[in-house]
Amino acid sequence: MNSLIEKTRAYLKNAYVPYSNFKVAACVKTKDKEYFGANIENASYGLSNCAERSALFYAYSQGVRKEDIEEMVIVTMAKQLTYPCGACRQVMVELVPRNAKVTLANEHEIRETTVEELIPFAFDSSDLDE
Ligand SMILES: [Zn+2]
Repeated sequence: MNSLIEKTRAYLKNAYVPYSNFKVAACVKTKDKEYFGANIENASYGLSNCAERSALFYAYSQGVRKEDIEEMVIVTMAKQLTYPCGACRQVMVELVPRNAKVTLANEHEIRETTVEELIPFAFDSSDLDE
């Protein structure tokens, strides 16, 4: 089993999910380091934050930038593979290289994809050019 998946899986215990009990953990991997995050819910549901964004914002807060990121790993305990939500895909377009590997895993299955495959035709900074 992929050790980065196993390391990410260990962060499921840090998810704060009193409402959904749906735990997600994510990792942002650079050449030198790994940054982990988990989903954090709120009684005002809309203020909840996904594991993918928790990991990315943590990594960026530590000084990581787009060109540093090699891979993201997203792990759940769900029966089916869980894909990033639309908000996280938009944030990934901003903060992760389009060709970066994105590995999705649960207990039974692993799928490798890319940011580009997750959000083709994305809105990004180039759309703001005049
Ligand atoms: Zn999300």
